Amino acid sequence: MNLSKDAFGAGDHIEVEVLIIGSGAGGSPTAALLAEAGFDVLIVEEGEWYDQGSIKPFSLDQMEKQYRSGGVTVALGRPSIAYTEGRCAGGGTEVNSGLYKRPPHSMLTKWRDGYQIQNLELDDIDDIADEIERDLSVSYVPGESTLASQALARGATSLGWQNGEIPRWMSYPERGDALSGKRQSMTETYLPRAINAGAILSTGVRVERLEMTDATAGAAVVERRDGKAGRISFRHVFVCCGAIHTPALLQRSGIKGNIGKSLAVHPTVKLSAKFSEEINVDNDVPVHQVTEFFPHSSFGGSASQAGLLALALNDNWRAFRGQITDWRRMSVYYAAITSEGRGRVISVPGMRDPVVTYRLTKNDRTLLAISLGRLALAMLAAGAEAVYPSFRGAPVVRRPADVARLEAGFSATKASVMSVHLCSTVPMGEDPRLCGADSFGRVHGTTNVRVNDASLLPSAPGVNPQATVMALVVRNVRRFIEENVHA
Ligand SMILES: Cc1cc2nc3c(=O)[nH]c(=O)nc-3n(C[C@H](O)[C@H](O)[C@H](O)COP(=O)(O)OP(=O)(O)OC[C@H]3O[C@@H](n4cnc5c(N)ncnc54)[C@H](O)[C@@H]3O)c2cc1C
Repeated sequence: MNLSKDAFGAGDHIEVEVLIIGSGAGGSPTAALLAEAGFDVLIVEEGEWYDQGSIKPFSLDQMEKQYRSGGVTVALGRPSIAYTEGRCAGGGTEVNSGLYKRPPHSMLTKWRDGYQIQNLELDDIDDIADEIERDLSVSYVPGESTLASQALARGATSLGWQNGEIPRWMSYPERGDALSGKRQSMTETYLPRAINAGAILSTGVRVERLEMTDATAGAAVVERRDGKAGRISFRHVFVCCGAIHTPALLQRSGIKGNIGKSLAVHPTVKLSAKFSEEINVDNDVPVHQVTEFFPHSSFGGSASQAGLLALALNDNWRAFRGQITDWRRMSVYYAAITSEGRGRVISVPGMRDPVVTYRLTKNDRTLLAISLGRLALAMLAAGAEAVYPSFRGAPVVRRPADVARLEAGFSATKASVMSVHLCSTVPMGEDPRLCGADSFGRVHGTTNVRVNDASLLPSAPGVNPQATVMALVVRNVRRFIEENVHA
Protein backbone atom coordinates (compact mmCIF):
# COMPACT_ATOMS: atom_id res chain seq x y z
CA MET A 1 0.00 0.00 0.00
CA ASN A 2 1.60 3.25 -1.16
CA LEU A 3 1.55 5.61 1.82
CA SER A 4 3.30 8.48 0.08
CA LYS A 5 1.54 11.82 -0.61
CA ASP A 6 2.45 14.83 -2.69
CA ALA A 7 3.01 17.24 0.19
CA PHE A 8 3.18 20.23 -2.18
CA GLY A 9 -0.26 19.91 -3.78
CA ALA A 10 -0.76 22.92 -6.05
CA GLY A 11 1.69 25.16 -4.15
CA ASP A 12 5.45 25.25 -4.08
CA HIS A 13 6.15 26.14 -0.46
CA ILE A 14 5.61 24.11 2.71
CA GLU A 15 6.30 24.93 6.35
CA VAL A 16 7.03 22.15 8.79
CA GLU A 17 8.54 21.78 12.24
CA VAL A 18 10.95 18.93 11.40
CA LEU A 19 12.14 18.00 7.92
CA ILE A 20 13.68 14.56 7.43
CA ILE A 21 15.57 14.07 4.18
CA GLY A 22 15.85 10.42 3.10
CA SER A 23 13.72 7.49 4.24
CA GLY A 24 16.24 4.66 4.67
CA ALA A 25 17.53 2.91 7.79
CA GLY A 26 18.35 6.32 9.27
CA GLY A 27 15.44 8.49 8.16
CA SER A 28 12.53 6.14 8.85
CA PRO A 29 13.13 5.41 12.55
CA THR A 30 13.97 9.09 13.04
CA ALA A 31 10.57 9.99 11.55
CA ALA A 32 8.62 7.36 13.49
CA LEU A 33 10.02 8.35 16.88
CA LEU A 34 9.61 12.07 16.27
CA ALA A 35 6.04 11.75 14.99
CA GLU A 36 5.13 9.53 17.94
CA ALA A 37 6.57 12.16 20.28
CA GLY A 38 4.19 14.73 18.77
CA PHE A 39 6.46 16.58 16.35
CA ASP A 40 5.11 17.83 13.04
CA VAL A 41 7.20 15.76 10.60
CA LEU A 42 7.68 15.77 6.82
CA ILE A 43 9.89 13.10 5.22
CA VAL A 44 11.07 13.76 1.68
CA GLU A 45 12.55 10.95 -0.40
CA GLU A 46 14.14 11.21 -3.82
CA GLY A 47 13.02 7.75 -4.96
CA GLU A 48 9.53 6.28 -5.31
CA TRP A 49 7.45 3.91 -3.18
CA TYR A 50 7.34 0.22 -4.18
CA ASP A 51 5.58 -2.26 -1.95
CA GLN A 52 7.88 -4.90 -0.51
CA GLY A 53 7.36 -8.05 -2.57
CA SER A 54 6.04 -6.24 -5.66
CA ILE A 55 9.44 -6.36 -7.38
CA LYS A 56 11.53 -9.50 -7.85
CA PRO A 57 14.60 -9.26 -5.57
CA PHE A 58 18.00 -8.95 -7.29
CA SER A 59 16.33 -8.53 -10.71
CA LEU A 60 17.09 -5.99 -13.45
CA ASP A 61 13.66 -4.50 -12.76
CA GLN A 62 14.72 -3.91 -9.17
CA MET A 63 18.03 -2.39 -10.26
CA GLU A 64 16.20 0.05 -12.49
CA LYS A 65 13.49 1.06 -10.03
CA GLN A 66 14.96 0.82 -6.56
CA TYR A 67 18.70 1.42 -6.98
CA ARG A 68 20.48 4.69 -7.64
CA SER A 69 21.67 4.93 -11.25
CA GLY A 70 20.47 1.40 -11.99
CA GLY A 71 23.04 0.04 -9.52
CA VAL A 72 25.98 1.38 -11.53
CA THR A 73 27.92 3.69 -9.23
CA VAL A 74 31.64 3.69 -8.61
CA ALA A 75 34.25 5.02 -6.20
CA LEU A 76 37.26 5.97 -8.30
CA GLY A 77 40.64 4.58 -7.34
CA ARG A 78 43.14 1.84 -8.10
CA PRO A 79 41.12 -0.25 -8.38
CA SER A 80 37.83 1.60 -8.61
CA ILE A 81 35.24 0.05 -6.31
CA ALA A 82 31.71 -0.53 -7.58
CA TYR A 83 29.10 0.30 -4.95
CA THR A 84 25.32 0.23 -4.87
CA GLU A 85 22.72 2.23 -2.95
CA GLY A 86 18.96 1.96 -2.63
CA ARG A 87 17.02 4.95 -3.96
CA CYS A 88 13.34 4.48 -3.09
CA ALA A 89 11.04 4.81 -0.08
CA GLY A 90 12.90 2.76 2.55
CA GLY A 91 16.32 3.29 0.90
CA GLY A 92 18.81 0.44 1.20
CA THR A 93 16.53 -1.55 3.49
CA GLU A 94 14.23 -2.38 0.56
CA VAL A 95 16.90 -4.01 -1.56
CA ASN A 96 19.39 -5.40 0.92
CA SER A 97 19.87 -8.96 2.15
CA GLY A 98 18.39 -8.25 5.56
CA LEU A 99 21.27 -9.87 7.44
CA TYR A 100 21.25 -8.54 11.00
CA LYS A 101 24.35 -8.22 13.18
CA ARG A 102 24.20 -6.40 16.52
CA PRO A 103 26.64 -3.51 16.95
CA PRO A 104 29.85 -5.15 18.26
CA HIS A 105 30.85 -3.88 21.74
CA SER A 106 34.52 -3.84 20.75
CA MET A 107 33.74 -1.44 17.90
CA LEU A 108 31.48 0.82 20.01
CA THR A 109 34.16 1.12 22.68
CA LYS A 110 36.82 1.90 20.08
CA TRP A 111 34.61 4.61 18.58
CA ARG A 112 33.65 6.07 21.97
CA ASP A 113 37.28 6.40 23.06
CA GLY A 114 38.85 7.24 19.69
CA TYR A 115 36.30 9.85 18.58
CA GLN A 116 35.27 11.13 22.03
CA ILE A 117 31.60 10.17 21.71
CA GLN A 118 29.86 11.27 24.89
CA ASN A 119 27.31 9.07 26.65
CA LEU A 120 27.71 6.12 24.31
CA GLU A 121 26.67 3.42 26.78
CA LEU A 122 26.88 -0.23 25.74
CA ASP A 123 23.84 -1.17 27.85
CA ASP A 124 21.71 1.54 26.22
CA ILE A 125 22.71 0.35 22.75
CA ASP A 126 21.90 -3.25 23.70
CA ASP A 127 18.45 -2.18 24.95
CA ILE A 128 17.80 -0.31 21.72
CA ALA A 129 18.98 -3.35 19.73
CA ASP A 130 16.43 -5.52 21.63
CA GLU A 131 13.71 -3.08 20.63
CA ILE A 132 14.78 -2.93 16.97
CA GLU A 133 14.93 -6.72 16.80
CA ARG A 134 11.31 -6.88 17.95
CA ASP A 135 10.21 -4.12 15.58
CA LEU A 136 11.88 -5.76 12.57
CA SER A 137 10.97 -9.37 13.50
CA VAL A 138 14.63 -10.35 13.40
CA SER A 139 14.57 -14.14 13.13
CA TYR A 140 16.40 -17.26 12.04
CA VAL A 141 15.14 -19.21 9.03
CA PRO A 142 12.46 -21.75 9.91
CA GLY A 143 13.83 -25.26 9.39
CA GLU A 144 16.90 -25.87 7.27
CA SER A 145 18.89 -23.13 5.60
CA THR A 146 19.48 -23.50 1.86
CA LEU A 147 22.13 -25.85 0.43
CA ALA A 148 24.39 -22.97 -0.63
CA SER A 149 24.30 -21.61 2.92
CA GLN A 150 24.92 -25.02 4.46
CA ALA A 151 27.92 -25.53 2.17
CA LEU A 152 29.71 -22.48 3.60
CA ALA A 153 29.00 -23.60 7.17
CA ARG A 154 30.16 -27.15 6.42
CA GLY A 155 33.41 -25.96 4.85
CA ALA A 156 34.22 -23.57 7.71
CA THR A 157 33.35 -26.16 10.37
CA SER A 158 35.56 -28.80 8.81
CA LEU A 159 38.46 -26.32 8.93
CA GLY A 160 37.66 -25.54 12.58
CA TRP A 161 36.62 -21.94 11.77
CA GLN A 162 33.94 -20.11 13.70
CA ASN A 163 30.77 -19.65 11.71
CA GLY A 164 27.06 -19.35 12.29
CA GLU A 165 23.68 -18.45 10.95
CA ILE A 166 22.94 -14.72 10.86
CA PRO A 167 19.31 -13.79 11.59
CA ARG A 168 17.44 -11.57 9.13
CA TRP A 169 14.69 -8.97 9.44
CA MET A 170 12.05 -11.24 7.97
CA SER A 171 8.58 -12.42 8.80
CA TYR A 172 8.03 -16.03 7.84
CA PRO A 173 4.60 -17.56 7.31
CA GLU A 174 3.56 -20.46 9.51
CA ARG A 175 5.25 -23.61 8.23
CA GLY A 176 7.37 -21.39 5.94
CA ASP A 177 10.88 -22.23 4.80
CA ALA A 178 14.13 -20.38 4.18
CA LEU A 179 12.82 -18.94 0.90
CA SER A 180 9.35 -17.88 2.00
CA GLY A 181 9.88 -14.82 4.22
CA LYS A 182 8.98 -11.19 3.65
CA ARG A 183 11.69 -8.64 4.32
CA GLN A 184 10.76 -6.29 7.16
CA SER A 185 12.13 -3.22 5.45
CA MET A 186 11.20 0.38 6.30
CA THR A 187 8.08 0.37 4.05
CA GLU A 188 6.80 -2.53 6.20
CA THR A 189 7.77 -1.17 9.61
CA TYR A 190 8.94 2.31 10.59
CA LEU A 191 7.45 4.24 7.66
CA PRO A 192 3.85 3.08 8.28
CA ARG A 193 4.50 3.75 11.98
CA ALA A 194 5.63 7.30 11.23
CA ILE A 195 2.66 7.92 8.96
CA ASN A 196 0.18 6.47 11.47
CA ALA A 197 1.56 8.92 14.00
CA GLY A 198 0.92 11.84 11.64
CA ALA A 199 4.13 12.21 9.61
CA ILE A 200 3.82 12.89 5.89
CA LEU A 201 6.05 11.10 3.39
CA SER A 202 6.55 12.79 0.03
CA THR A 203 8.42 10.66 -2.54
CA GLY A 204 9.96 11.87 -5.79
CA VAL A 205 11.36 14.94 -3.99
CA ARG A 206 15.09 15.55 -4.11
CA VAL A 207 16.66 18.15 -1.83
CA GLU A 208 19.19 20.20 -3.73
CA ARG A 209 20.51 22.29 -0.85
CA LEU A 210 19.75 23.83 2.51
CA GLU A 211 19.49 27.60 2.82
CA MET A 212 21.84 28.65 5.61
CA THR A 213 21.84 31.93 7.51
CA ASP A 214 25.09 31.90 9.44
CA ALA A 215 24.99 28.63 11.39
CA THR A 216 21.26 27.99 11.05
CA ALA A 217 19.38 26.26 8.26
CA GLY A 218 15.95 27.71 7.52
CA ALA A 219 14.71 25.98 4.38
CA ALA A 220 15.41 23.28 1.82
CA VAL A 221 15.37 23.94 -1.90
CA VAL A 222 13.97 20.90 -3.68
CA GLU A 223 13.36 19.46 -7.13
CA ARG A 224 10.11 17.55 -7.51
CA ARG A 225 9.23 14.56 -9.66
CA ASP A 226 7.81 16.77 -12.41
CA GLY A 227 10.98 18.89 -12.47
CA LYS A 228 9.32 21.80 -10.63
CA ALA A 229 11.20 23.53 -7.83
CA GLY A 230 9.87 23.82 -4.28
CA ARG A 231 10.90 25.17 -0.91
CA ILE A 232 10.36 23.69 2.55
CA SER A 233 10.86 25.86 5.64
CA PHE A 234 11.56 24.11 8.92
CA ARG A 235 12.84 24.56 12.46
CA HIS A 236 14.94 21.41 12.54
CA VAL A 237 16.35 19.24 9.79
CA PHE A 238 17.66 15.66 9.86
CA VAL A 239 19.80 14.78 6.85
CA CYS A 240 19.50 11.01 6.32
CA CYS A 241 20.54 10.58 2.69
CA GLY A 242 23.10 7.81 3.29
CA ALA A 243 26.88 8.02 3.46
CA ILE A 244 27.33 9.37 -0.08
CA HIS A 245 24.46 11.83 -0.44
CA THR A 246 24.42 13.25 3.09
CA PRO A 247 27.91 14.79 2.80
CA ALA A 248 27.16 15.82 -0.80
CA LEU A 249 24.05 17.73 0.32
CA LEU A 250 25.87 19.36 3.23
CA GLN A 251 28.66 20.44 0.88
CA ARG A 252 26.16 21.85 -1.65
CA SER A 253 24.73 23.86 1.24
CA GLY A 254 28.12 25.42 1.96
CA ILE A 255 28.69 23.54 5.24
CA LYS A 256 32.36 22.93 5.89
CA GLY A 257 34.33 20.76 8.32
CA ASN A 258 34.93 17.02 8.37
CA ILE A 259 32.27 16.35 5.77
CA GLY A 260 32.89 13.70 3.12
CA LYS A 261 36.58 13.26 3.90
CA SER A 262 36.57 9.82 5.51
CA LEU A 263 34.35 7.43 3.55
CA ALA A 264 34.76 3.86 4.85
CA VAL A 265 33.48 0.73 3.10
CA HIS A 266 33.86 -3.04 3.36
CA PRO A 267 35.69 -3.90 0.11
CA THR A 268 34.46 -7.25 -1.13
CA VAL A 269 35.75 -9.85 -3.59
CA LYS A 270 33.97 -12.93 -4.91
CA LEU A 271 34.29 -16.43 -6.26
CA SER A 272 31.94 -19.05 -7.71
CA ALA A 273 32.00 -22.59 -6.35
CA LYS A 274 30.79 -25.63 -8.29
CA PHE A 275 29.39 -28.66 -6.52
CA SER A 276 28.37 -32.12 -7.69
CA GLU A 277 24.73 -31.54 -6.73
CA GLU A 278 22.31 -28.73 -7.62
CA ILE A 279 22.49 -26.02 -4.97
CA ASN A 280 21.29 -22.93 -6.81
CA VAL A 281 17.73 -21.91 -6.00
CA ASP A 282 15.88 -18.71 -6.91
CA ASN A 283 15.76 -15.90 -4.33
CA ASP A 284 18.39 -17.53 -2.12
CA VAL A 285 20.16 -15.31 0.41
CA PRO A 286 22.61 -17.63 2.21
CA VAL A 287 22.42 -16.89 5.93
CA HIS A 288 25.69 -18.37 7.19
CA GLN A 289 28.78 -16.29 7.70
CA VAL A 290 32.33 -17.22 8.64
CA THR A 291 33.31 -15.03 11.60
CA GLU A 292 36.65 -16.68 12.44
CA PHE A 293 38.65 -13.72 11.14
CA PHE A 294 36.56 -10.87 12.64
CA PRO A 295 37.25 -7.95 12.74
CA HIS A 296 39.57 -8.30 9.74
CA SER A 297 37.31 -10.16 7.33
CA SER A 298 34.12 -12.16 7.01
CA PHE A 299 32.79 -14.56 4.38
CA GLY A 300 29.26 -15.21 3.23
CA GLY A 301 27.09 -16.23 0.29
CA SER A 302 25.62 -13.94 -2.38
CA ALA A 303 22.51 -13.97 -4.53
CA SER A 304 23.42 -16.32 -7.39
CA GLN A 305 20.80 -16.25 -10.14
CA ALA A 306 22.23 -17.25 -13.55
CA GLY A 307 22.78 -13.58 -14.52
CA LEU A 308 24.66 -12.83 -11.29
CA LEU A 309 26.74 -15.96 -11.69
CA ALA A 310 27.67 -14.85 -15.20
CA LEU A 311 28.73 -11.52 -13.68
CA ALA A 312 30.93 -13.31 -11.14
CA LEU A 313 32.58 -15.38 -13.91
CA ASN A 314 32.90 -12.35 -16.15
CA ASP A 315 36.35 -11.21 -14.99
CA ASN A 316 37.79 -14.30 -16.62
CA TRP A 317 35.02 -14.87 -19.14
CA ARG A 318 37.04 -16.48 -21.91
CA ALA A 319 38.37 -19.18 -19.58
CA PHE A 320 35.31 -19.55 -17.32
CA ARG A 321 32.31 -18.98 -19.61
CA GLY A 322 31.82 -22.70 -20.27
CA GLN A 323 30.83 -23.12 -16.62
CA ILE A 324 27.66 -21.07 -16.93
CA THR A 325 25.73 -24.04 -18.33
CA ASP A 326 26.27 -25.69 -14.93
CA TRP A 327 24.83 -22.71 -13.03
CA ARG A 328 22.40 -24.85 -11.06
CA ARG A 329 25.39 -26.57 -9.43
CA MET A 330 27.10 -23.28 -8.66
CA SER A 331 26.81 -20.49 -6.14
CA VAL A 332 28.63 -17.20 -5.53
CA TYR A 333 30.39 -16.43 -2.23
CA TYR A 334 32.12 -13.29 -1.01
CA ALA A 335 34.96 -12.22 1.26
CA ALA A 336 34.54 -8.75 2.78
CA ILE A 337 37.37 -6.99 4.60
CA THR A 338 37.51 -4.24 7.20
CA SER A 339 39.64 -1.82 5.26
CA GLU A 340 42.26 0.61 6.57
CA GLY A 341 41.74 2.72 3.45
CA ARG A 342 39.45 5.72 3.22
CA GLY A 343 37.70 7.63 0.49
CA ARG A 344 36.16 10.99 -0.24
CA VAL A 345 32.83 12.34 -1.38
CA ILE A 346 33.23 15.58 -3.31
CA SER A 347 30.30 17.60 -4.54
CA VAL A 348 31.18 19.34 -7.81
CA PRO A 349 29.26 22.48 -8.87
CA GLY A 350 27.06 21.75 -11.88
CA MET A 351 27.12 17.97 -11.39
CA ARG A 352 24.09 16.16 -9.99
CA ASP A 353 26.01 13.38 -8.23
CA PRO A 354 29.21 13.79 -6.26
CA VAL A 355 32.58 12.39 -7.27
CA VAL A 356 33.47 9.50 -4.96
CA THR A 357 37.00 8.14 -4.49
CA TYR A 358 38.44 5.30 -2.39
CA ARG A 359 42.02 4.29 -1.73
CA LEU A 360 42.85 0.74 -0.64
CA THR A 361 46.06 0.46 1.40
CA LYS A 362 48.78 -2.14 0.76
CA ASN A 363 47.51 -4.08 3.78
CA ASP A 364 43.97 -4.01 2.34
CA ARG A 365 45.21 -5.51 -0.91
CA THR A 366 47.10 -8.25 0.92
CA LEU A 367 44.10 -8.97 3.13
CA LEU A 368 41.83 -9.24 0.07
CA ALA A 369 44.17 -11.86 -1.46
CA ILE A 370 44.45 -13.85 1.79
CA SER A 371 40.70 -13.68 2.39
CA LEU A 372 39.83 -14.86 -1.11
CA GLY A 373 42.30 -17.73 -0.66
CA ARG A 374 40.73 -18.70 2.67
CA LEU A 375 37.27 -18.55 1.19
CA ALA A 376 38.38 -20.86 -1.66
CA LEU A 377 39.79 -23.27 0.93
CA ALA A 378 36.48 -23.29 2.79
CA MET A 379 34.59 -24.08 -0.41
CA LEU A 380 36.92 -26.98 -1.22
CA ALA A 381 36.46 -28.24 2.36
CA ALA A 382 32.70 -28.04 1.76
CA GLY A 383 33.07 -30.43 -1.16
CA ALA A 384 33.24 -28.02 -4.10
CA GLU A 385 34.76 -29.73 -7.12
CA ALA A 386 36.08 -26.45 -8.51
CA VAL A 387 36.29 -22.80 -7.48
CA TYR A 388 36.39 -19.89 -9.96
CA PRO A 389 37.77 -16.69 -8.35
CA SER A 390 36.51 -13.38 -9.74
CA PHE A 391 39.65 -11.69 -11.03
CA ARG A 392 41.31 -11.45 -14.41
CA GLY A 393 43.69 -14.35 -15.07
CA ALA A 394 42.51 -16.30 -12.00
CA PRO A 395 43.37 -20.00 -11.88
CA VAL A 396 40.67 -22.63 -11.34
CA VAL A 397 41.11 -23.92 -7.78
CA ARG A 398 40.50 -27.68 -7.52
CA ARG A 399 42.64 -28.67 -4.52
CA PRO A 400 44.11 -26.87 -1.48
CA ALA A 401 47.53 -26.71 -3.15
CA ASP A 402 46.02 -24.42 -5.84
CA VAL A 403 45.18 -21.75 -3.25
CA ALA A 404 48.79 -20.52 -3.18
CA ARG A 405 48.53 -19.88 -6.95
CA LEU A 406 45.29 -17.97 -6.41
CA GLU A 407 46.88 -15.74 -3.77
CA ALA A 408 50.06 -15.20 -5.80
CA GLY A 409 48.09 -14.32 -8.95
CA PHE A 410 45.59 -12.05 -7.19
CA SER A 411 45.83 -8.34 -7.55
CA ALA A 412 43.08 -5.97 -6.45
CA THR A 413 43.44 -4.06 -9.72
CA LYS A 414 42.49 -7.23 -11.64
CA ALA A 415 39.44 -7.94 -9.49
CA SER A 416 35.90 -6.60 -9.49
CA VAL A 417 36.09 -5.12 -6.01
CA MET A 418 32.69 -3.94 -4.82
CA SER A 419 30.88 -2.81 -1.69
CA VAL A 420 27.34 -2.38 -0.44
CA HIS A 421 28.35 -1.09 3.02
CA LEU A 422 29.10 2.63 2.94
CA CYS A 423 29.64 4.79 6.02
CA SER A 424 31.72 7.29 8.01
CA THR A 425 31.50 10.46 5.89
CA VAL A 426 30.28 12.64 8.80
CA PRO A 427 31.79 10.82 11.80
CA MET A 428 30.18 11.58 15.17
CA GLY A 429 32.06 12.67 18.29
CA GLU A 430 33.68 15.63 19.97
CA ASP A 431 37.20 15.31 18.54
CA PRO A 432 37.31 18.29 16.15
CA ARG A 433 40.17 16.79 14.12
CA LEU A 434 38.10 13.73 13.20
CA CYS A 435 34.40 14.46 13.53
CA GLY A 436 31.84 16.20 11.31
CA ALA A 437 28.99 15.98 13.84
CA ASP A 438 28.77 16.01 17.63
CA SER A 439 28.11 13.03 19.90
CA PHE A 440 24.42 13.00 18.91
CA GLY A 441 24.66 13.91 15.22
CA ARG A 442 24.35 17.73 15.20
CA VAL A 443 26.69 18.97 12.49
CA HIS A 444 29.56 20.89 14.06
CA GLY A 445 29.28 24.62 13.43
CA THR A 446 25.49 24.53 12.91
CA THR A 447 22.64 25.07 15.35
CA ASN A 448 19.90 22.90 13.82
CA VAL A 449 21.33 20.61 11.13
CA ARG A 450 21.48 17.00 12.25
CA VAL A 451 22.75 13.92 10.44
CA ASN A 452 21.17 10.59 11.38
CA ASP A 453 22.32 7.79 9.11
CA ALA A 454 25.29 5.59 8.16
CA SER A 455 27.46 8.69 7.70
CA LEU A 456 27.81 8.96 11.51
CA LEU A 457 29.59 5.60 12.04
CA PRO A 458 33.20 6.60 12.78
CA SER A 459 34.54 3.65 10.76
CA ALA A 460 33.25 0.60 8.91
CA PRO A 461 31.95 -1.68 11.69
CA GLY A 462 33.33 -4.99 10.35
CA VAL A 463 29.80 -6.46 10.38
CA ASN A 464 26.64 -5.86 8.32
CA PRO A 465 26.00 -2.25 9.29
CA GLN A 466 22.23 -1.63 9.27
CA ALA A 467 21.69 -2.70 12.90
CA THR A 468 24.46 -0.37 14.07
CA VAL A 469 23.10 2.49 11.96
CA MET A 470 19.62 2.02 13.43
CA ALA A 471 20.80 1.68 17.04
CA LEU A 472 22.77 4.94 16.87
CA VAL A 473 19.93 6.69 15.04
CA VAL A 474 17.37 5.72 17.70
CA ARG A 475 19.75 6.81 20.47
CA ASN A 476 20.31 10.19 18.82
CA VAL A 477 16.69 10.94 18.10
CA ARG A 478 15.69 10.07 21.68
CA ARG A 479 18.21 12.62 22.89
CA PHE A 480 16.76 15.21 20.49
CA ILE A 481 13.26 14.51 21.82
CA GLU A 482 14.45 14.91 25.42
CA GLU A 483 16.02 18.26 24.59
CA ASN A 484 13.17 19.61 22.47
CA VAL A 485 10.15 18.12 24.13
CA HIS A 486 7.01 20.14 23.54
CA ALA A 487 5.87 22.32 26.39
C1 LIG B 1 22.48 -4.44 -2.07
C2 LIG B 1 22.67 -4.10 -0.61
C3 LIG B 1 22.74 -5.14 0.32
C4 LIG B 1 22.94 -4.84 1.68
N1 LIG B 1 22.85 -5.86 2.59
C5 LIG B 1 22.86 -5.56 3.92
C6 LIG B 1 22.61 -6.56 4.89
O1 LIG B 1 22.31 -7.72 4.57
N2 LIG B 1 22.69 -6.20 6.21
C7 LIG B 1 23.01 -4.93 6.61
O2 LIG B 1 23.10 -4.69 7.82
N3 LIG B 1 23.20 -3.95 5.70
C8 LIG B 1 23.11 -4.23 4.38
N4 LIG B 1 23.26 -3.22 3.45
C9 LIG B 1 23.57 -1.85 3.94
C10 LIG B 1 22.34 -1.13 4.50
O3 LIG B 1 21.27 -1.20 3.59
C11 LIG B 1 22.75 0.32 4.77
O4 LIG B 1 23.78 0.33 5.76
C12 LIG B 1 21.60 1.21 5.27
O5 LIG B 1 20.51 1.17 4.39
C13 LIG B 1 22.11 2.65 5.40
O6 LIG B 1 21.04 3.47 5.84
P1 LIG B 1 21.05 5.03 5.52
O7 LIG B 1 19.83 5.59 6.11
O8 LIG B 1 22.36 5.59 5.88
O9 LIG B 1 20.96 5.14 3.91
P2 LIG B 1 19.90 4.56 2.90
O10 LIG B 1 19.19 3.39 3.47
O11 LIG B 1 20.66 4.37 1.62
O12 LIG B 1 18.81 5.71 2.70
C14 LIG B 1 19.11 6.96 2.16
C15 LIG B 1 17.88 7.47 1.40
O13 LIG B 1 18.05 8.86 1.13
C16 LIG B 1 17.54 9.14 -0.15
N5 LIG B 1 18.20 10.37 -0.63
C17 LIG B 1 19.50 10.53 -0.94
N6 LIG B 1 19.75 11.80 -1.32
C18 LIG B 1 18.58 12.46 -1.24
C19 LIG B 1 18.20 13.83 -1.51
N7 LIG B 1 19.10 14.74 -1.88
N8 LIG B 1 16.89 14.18 -1.35
C20 LIG B 1 15.95 13.26 -0.94
N9 LIG B 1 16.28 11.96 -0.68
C21 LIG B 1 17.57 11.57 -0.82
C22 LIG B 1 17.90 7.92 -0.97
O14 LIG B 1 17.08 7.81 -2.13
C23 LIG B 1 17.67 6.79 0.05
O15 LIG B 1 16.38 6.26 -0.04
C24 LIG B 1 23.10 -3.49 2.09
C25 LIG B 1 23.03 -2.45 1.16
C26 LIG B 1 22.80 -2.74 -0.19
C27 LIG B 1 22.73 -1.61 -1.18
